[in-house]
Amino acid sequence: MYSTLPDAVATAAADAESLRSAGHALIDRMADYLAGIESRPVSTPLSPAAIQARFDQPLPREGRPADEVWNEVWRDVVSDAIHVNHPMYMGHQVAPPLPHAVLADTMVSLLNQSLAVWEMSPTATMVEARVVRWLADAIGFPESADGTLVSGGSVANLTGLLAAREARFPGCWRDGIARTAEAERACLLVSGHSHYSVERTAGLMGLGSDAVIGVGERDGRMCPESLAETIERVRGEGRIPFAVSATAGSTAMGLFDPLDRIADVCEAAGVWLHVDGAHGASYALSESMRGLVHGIGRADSVAWDPHKMLFMPMSTGAVLVRDRRHLDAAFQQKAPYLFHARPGEDRCRDAGRMTLQCSRRFDALKLWVCLQHYGADHFAALLERTAETTASLHAKLADADDYEPSHAPESNILCFRHLPAALEGRPDEEVDAFQAELRSRYNASGIGWITLTVLNGRRTLRVTLMNPRTADEHLDRMLDSLRMIGREILAG
Ligand SMILES: *Cc1c(COP(=O)(O)O)cnc(C)c1O
Repeated sequence: MYSTLPDAVATAAADAESLRSAGHALIDRMADYLAGIESRPVSTPLSPAAIQARFDQPLPREGRPADEVWNEVWRDVVSDAIHVNHPMYMGHQVAPPLPHAVLADTMVSLLNQSLAVWEMSPTATMVEARVVRWLADAIGFPESADGTLVSGGSVANLTGLLAAREARFPGCWRDGIARTAEAERACLLVSGHSHYSVERTAGLMGLGSDAVIGVGERDGRMCPESLAETIERVRGEGRIPFAVSATAGSTAMGLFDPLDRIADVCEAAGVWLHVDGAHGASYALSESMRGLVHGIGRADSVAWDPHKMLFMPMSTGAVLVRDRRHLDAAFQQKAPYLFHARPGEDRCRDAGRMTLQCSRRFDALKLWVCLQHYGADHFAALLERTAETTASLHAKLADADDYEPSHAPESNILCFRHLPAALEGRPDEEVDAFQAELRSRYNASGIGWITLTVLNGRRTLRVTLMNPRTADEHLDRMLDSLRMIGREILAG
């Protein structure tokens, strides 16, 4: 009676044919897009309202030909997207993804393995475990280490710090902060340049953002002496610092906290060290740049975003802990409909125990394919290239009369200001407003795309060189275009 399928359900053969024919066409068009990327403006001049109006269709009750819809994707979506593959894109920390990672991402969708439990992803779980092992080895974590891929640095920070909280206040997961001895006195130590997601974890945990205490900095990096003093001071006030969150590759300037010396302080004081290496943990793969993260292997937990400096498409984040028992303890869930086996039973590695996510994509495949195809040394070369280009930009800025680098770069992030002679003697507010206007007009021009931040109270231009194909000619084009637009602004 069910020998034929109703019309609405395609046979697997018909779906396969859609995949084949539309897929070939789409891949061709994607390849053309990439090959011709430099002929596009980097971003759109359109306003949010103009773009919103383009997508005001009601819910379609009936379908229409796929070609038509895909053509609209190219016309309406791709056209005015921000083109992160363009070498003039020097904005936020979003990578131009490696081609095999893009392909693996498609495969991830087709297989659709759920990483919550091993029985739903028998091979994928083990591939992920291997990728986690590779990452753990790269930062010098011991055999006891473990971890899981997560959606990104924010969830990795939350996960690492939840593990820290449970390690310091056992039972807190079950009893809550109010009913766990001493937990209401918990505080978290960070420096001013930590990513906002670290402070957010204190809110999410119910500690309150006031439980986040700032540690002094020197040259944009956490100062170990100040950390030691702060631990002593807050303990004197009856508070309990349950973790220090250090930053390896700060978001604003790409600077690295002195992890080894911070680890000394944490070890002596018996405080959990979390390293937010969302941006910079990847430097562990480079022999020449590894020194930046010296000491990272002494951390108790690490956040690491392969979707930043390992050139993976979003979302590919990772959290690693040096002792897997702490991650087991961070989420103590009984879910008999899902987690059948207990920890330690060897039939099962249910990654869903280690993260707040349940359904979770098989993002590990992208890294597994790419690390094997390209090799870790290739990743190192890409990282090094972006840092060299950043150093070259710094030299150009330092040489020019009308530019001022805000700091020496350690990695691929650099802040600077454009200060043409006509601005000399103008009040700070005017100089700051000029930087903001410059950035805004430059980005709208489609020539390139940069970001803006505030350093020491002053507006500053900021670039993150995520694209290894960004070269000297692109840096010159950016600087010259900013000069030209600057002249237009000053001319009124
Ligand atoms: C990007 C970044 C984050 C946030 O990571 P997401 O993947 O965007 O969630 C956290 N910390 C640092 C230092 C970062 O650079």
